[in-house]
Amino acid sequence: MKKHNFSAGPCILPQEVFQEASQAILDYNNSGLSILEISHRSPAFVAVMEEARSLALELLGLKDKGYKALFLQGGASTQFLMVAYNLLEKKAAYLNTGTWSSKAIKEAKLFGEVVEVASSKDENFNYIPKSFTIPEDADYFHCTSNNTIFGTQIKKFPSTAKPLICDMSSDIFSRELDFSKFDLIYAGAQKNMGPAGTTLVVLKEEILGKVSREIPSMMDYQVHIGKDSMFNTPAVYAVYVSLLTLRWIKANGGIKAMEERNEQKADLIYNEIDRNPLFKGFARKEDRSPMNATFNLVDEGHKEIFDKMWKDAGVNGLNGHRSVGGYRASMYNAMPVESVQVVVDLMQELENKA
Ligand SMILES: *Cc1c(COP(=O)(O)O)cnc(C)c1O
Repeated sequence: MKKHNFSAGPCILPQEVFQEASQAILDYNNSGLSILEISHRSPAFVAVMEEARSLALELLGLKDKGYKALFLQGGASTQFLMVAYNLLEKKAAYLNTGTWSSKAIKEAKLFGEVVEVASSKDENFNYIPKSFTIPEDADYFHCTSNNTIFGTQIKKFPSTAKPLICDMSSDIFSRELDFSKFDLIYAGAQKNMGPAGTTLVVLKEEILGKVSREIPSMMDYQVHIGKDSMFNTPAVYAVYVSLLTLRWIKANGGIKAMEERNEQKADLIYNEIDRNPLFKGFARKEDRSPMNATFNLVDEGHKEIFDKMWKDAGVNGLNGHRSVGGYRASMYNAMPVESVQVVVDLMQELENKA
């Protein structure tokens, strides 16, 4: 039986993508070759890479606006240091909204001064700080749009003249934003875009070339741009499956349609969390993430029975991250509304039993 998969990442992808991706392993486009055994320099794979880069920009509304898209390796965690390597000359400003922001800050400190403009650590990152000032002399401002672990999301990004850098690993392609406000966006594929192994970086070329240090080739955005994201062997299969997912997003109405369905799913589960006396939400209401809903039992005594109920119902990956406890329902683009309804029904069933 196919499970209802609420895993936070790697995570659910569209069934159609799994089908096509598995076929390509056996025989890619009737070529008599597997996608896994062809050269990354072959016309067949170069076409995959080019379409993936171009479609990413198209879906974000950034085509012909001075942006480049790259599919790199090393995960979003490598972007924590690459951003600073390429852009931090003296001082950078960071908003600390959780574990991933904190890790980005740690890496940036290796390259210069880091000003933490605000932090929500005082309340275990259950909210997004709203008022802060970005220092005049900062080289850039960095934030995390969706906090996968704590279930919070930035709804309104600061207006700043500084380059705006954003880790969108867990909500890219999930909601409409004016993406042209950002100078560099990065996202590990495995949350909302594809399998683990590749990271999308979308950047404005004009922000590069302003630091005085020498940058090793693999860490240098300019090198990757110059080689059309093929400086070394890319993660061919991860890029291919990401392309299939991007095509799926486009065929299903683009980001706008994704956002509508994501809001529907979020309303469904948050309404139940607020209504059901056995549960309480973790994140502050105004900062709640439609991607990752975090919630706890009011009485931990119900844990054993509830855990058995959802596991018996074929629900996977509902356990909360250890730093929050309780539950986390990750509802990325590919998650059907029906799967969220299954969890809501179980919450109601628990209430009726208790
Ligand atoms: C998962 C995650 C990361 C880390 O991604 P890796 O690809 O494992 O390095 C960074 N930022 C956010 C917001 C994440 O959700």
